[in-house]
Amino acid sequence: MPPTIYYHVALPVPLRDNFDYLGPSGLDGIRLSEGVRVKVPLGRRILVGMVVGTSVTTPVPDSRLKAIREVLDDAPLLPPPILALLRWAARYYRHPYGEVIRAAIPARLRSGLSVDGVTHSHWYASVGEMPSQLSKRAPRQAAVLGTLLDHMDTGTPAEVLNAEHERWRDAMRALVEKGLAERREQPCPGPPVEGPDKPHGSMQVSLNPGQTEASGVIRQAMGRFAPVLLDGVTGSGKTEVYLSAIEGVLASGRQALVLVPEIGLTPQLVDRFSTRLRVPLAVMHSGLSDTERHCAWRMAGTGRARVVIGTRSAVFTPLPQPGILIVDEEHDPSFKQQDGFRYNARDLAVYRAKLEGIPVVLGSATPSLESLANVTRGKYTSVALPERAGPARPPSVSIIDLRRHRTTDGVSGPLRERIAAHLERGGQVLLFLNRRGFAPALLCNDCGWAAPCSRCDSLLTLHAGQASMRCHHCGAQRSVPDRCEACGGSDLLPVGQGTERVERALREWFPQVPLVRIDRDTTRRKGALEGHIRAIRSGRHRILIGTQMLSKGHDFPQVTLTGILSLDNGLYATDFRASERLAQLIVQVAGRAGRADRPGEVCLQTHLPDHPLIQSLIHRGYQGFAQTALAERRAAGMPPFSHMALLRAEATARDEPMRLLETVRGKVVVADASKAVQFGPAPAPMERRAGRFRAQLMAIAPRRQELDPVVDQWLGELRENGRGRSVRWSLDIDPADVL
Ligand code: ADP
Ligand code: ZN
Ligand code: ZN
Repeated sequence: MPPTIYYHVALPVPLRDNFDYLGPSGLDGIRLSEGVRVKVPLGRRILVGMVVGTSVTTPVPDSRLKAIREVLDDAPLLPPPILALLRWAARYYRHPYGEVIRAAIPARLRSGLSVDGVTHSHWYASVGEMPSQLSKRAPRQAAVLGTLLDHMDTGTPAEVLNAEHERWRDAMRALVEKGLAERREQPCPGPPVEGPDKPHGSMQVSLNPGQTEASGVIRQAMGRFAPVLLDGVTGSGKTEVYLSAIEGVLASGRQALVLVPEIGLTPQLVDRFSTRLRVPLAVMHSGLSDTERHCAWRMAGTGRARVVIGTRSAVFTPLPQPGILIVDEEHDPSFKQQDGFRYNARDLAVYRAKLEGIPVVLGSATPSLESLANVTRGKYTSVALPERAGPARPPSVSIIDLRRHRTTDGVSGPLRERIAAHLERGGQVLLFLNRRGFAPALLCNDCGWAAPCSRCDSLLTLHAGQASMRCHHCGAQRSVPDRCEACGGSDLLPVGQGTERVERALREWFPQVPLVRIDRDTTRRKGALEGHIRAIRSGRHRILIGTQMLSKGHDFPQVTLTGILSLDNGLYATDFRASERLAQLIVQVAGRAGRADRPGEVCLQTHLPDHPLIQSLIHRGYQGFAQTALAERRAAGMPPFSHMALLRAEATARDEPMRLLETVRGKVVVADASKAVQFGPAPAPMERRAGRFRAQLMAIAPRRQELDPVVDQWLGELRENGRGRSVRWSLDIDPADVL
């Protein structure tokens, strides 16, 4: 008799990594592979889990062992390198393996649906060439048909059409009616593409010497693990370097995975990549429907998609022939997942590249201090692109001292003059302000009362558009009070500026000039951000007002003036990463100006013109800033020169989180106090949010091995005594912020 095999099944439940089960009855002699999904009973529930290992012994007594109820996949859903990545991530972030797996697969698959049976629409041209006259009579239809003709061999999915055309569906309907185009429902993922990929570049730019060198370094690293930091100023042509490296990867029959921080950046890249590379692309981001996401995942996983572009969670996408991983804007905090399984997709990309034995390129104009430190340590190769590509020159930067210039609705006189001058010369103007709504406070002029959020330690923001007061921390909403709730006075004053207020002022000053505001309020509708960005790039809008959504890597060639209205809040912030974030923000926002042939100008309004951060950025650039900041972090023993873990707790009763964390802290026996140090517990900087009081406990150690025992002891105590309490807790390894 062969020994009984016990299957380790990872389930999405807290605190445990996996559970042992007997094989399914009736399937004796068949051994399930790792990576296959199964349905199993747990307590009174039936859960979908994944087989992650087997053994011939189990600590579970026979009487309690149950059998797998159902096997959901014929072949493993996740290949060995992805399982290895997830197992490593589960251990590194101390998160249950089953929950990590769950976070890594599309929703349809989490719920146990089959991998097959999904269809995906593709459009094809029904003619071999562009009918004469079409571009004259119906330019939009001609443009759409042009895209279809460009992708005859693969068909064109909606993602590519979305990226390249505005309201393409109307044009497509007309094309279909005329018999010029047709739609085919292809079973997802569709037939594989035959033969090696032959990217035939149109609009090929010839790389400049810096780009050639960068691309050479990456191409030489093909086929082995090599992390490369592509440290290139905004507009230096990093994307061209990615494209060139990807062309090499495609030519060798391999796939490329490109991670971007924001969904708003994907259409721009998809557009550029699809016109240049002419291979099937898959796009993965949170704006997709479950079916679309599933299909993109399958396109990647079967090898049909040669290039995958996606946000954070796309780092887990299986690829049968991986050739390169690229993380664009690697410094961006959105690569860090902020709830549940709190992983950093950039860091996981590097580990994945190591597992797969391929190069990983981290690109940024403002590299994270972590990555710069890894260059210094010799772990990463750095290639620099210190100059802008093509004709573009670096923008000139001037400081407007707000102690000497009064502002009206957030805009000083000198800035207003510059705006007028740039508009007159036909440039686009971008105004950056990190606060949406009309005003961050509504204040009583008689007694100083300000409308608070009843559930947070914070004030409500006045939103003029919806005539409401809103909390930006918990989402609470109320009507705008017409009297002071403290003294009954009626003289209530909106204090400070939000994007709505700046918009109103600019519309009044420049009534003829088309303007767009971009913030969370104007981009809620699906596809709205993409639409705005396309309209900006087409030159339809001349004034752009926005929050950090506008600061990310967008290429707006017509912007010649960037005005940074205020960053002073950031200069007072307490988080240890605040200055790094602020420097990145300033440099990134500034980098939106003058990206093409017209010279760019940046105006920075501030009450603190002599602040060391501003001075060092102006005189020594981001590099200079980063060197100083790294020296400070080293002196303070902060990351990247140490490892940090943060334990957060929250409850409706004020003292409970503190009490729990005190207990947890007290259980830790640190053998050598010079190695790992605990800080706190302390109330969070904003203690009450959404009606819950929050506290945190931090541990810092010079090396990860020294941090681990502390975290283990925290978790041990929480497992034993943290349950059944009304305190919610969460562990954050390498926290992105400590707020
Ligand atoms: P980044 O990704 O570094 O911000 P991009 O790759 O978007 O830079 O390039 C910025 C601009 O410069 C784009 O409009 C791009 O077409 C142009 N560009 C890039 N490389 C070259 C080159 N070698 N010659 C001419 N123009 C270039
Ligand atoms: Zn009052
Ligand atoms: Zn609130």
